[in-house]
Amino acid sequence: MDIPVDIGRLKIGTVYKYQGELHWEEIELDVGKCPVVAPIKVHIQYRLDKDGLKVLGSVQTVLLCPCSRCLETFKLPIKGRIEAIYRPFEVLKEQKNVEEKLEKLENVVYYSTPVVDLAERVLEAIVVEVPQKLLCKPDCKGLCQYCGKNLNEDPDHKCTEKSGIVDPRWAVLQEFKSRIAEGG
Ligand SMILES: [Zn+2]
Ligand SMILES: [Zn+2]
Repeated sequence: MDIPVDIGRLKIGTVYKYQGELHWEEIELDVGKCPVVAPIKVHIQYRLDKDGLKVLGSVQTVLLCPCSRCLETFKLPIKGRIEAIYRPFEVLKEQKNVEEKLEKLENVVYYSTPVVDLAERVLEAIVVEVPQKLLCKPDCKGLCQYCGKNLNEDPDHKCTEKSGIVDPRWAVLQEFKSRIAEGG
């Protein structure tokens, strides 16, 4: 546990603060494990009241991710928000379906032991900030489809290996283009 909070020991209505840095080596994403290359700065405020433990906060760090077009790793700055309510697990059993669905939207977390780890919310806040399509820059040119050269480094790349592995669909298009260029 990186940010343990013993809910049983909190005073109702008191605002508690956590401010610190977490040093995780990597974070598991859809694309695989991505190294964390800056301290994970965390600010959290939490307060226990009759609805449960309310948690609000922010998280900031930098991940090293692979670009989905050119495959180079790049630094992805992350700024995430933490927003959650912890409620005792017993509450869940008493609830009706409709209410449950609504609460999913409110980021309700049910706990069964008095000590919870707010670092789980930090991880969540980072993961949701990672875009579906990871690009080193919006206009990443990707790789040459014939030889695999990174076209960002060589935008004027004319592939000499082109003739070898031509996609038939591409060949038709090329022929069409050259016919237009020749005027017929
Ligand atoms: Zn790229
Ligand atoms: Zn090439």
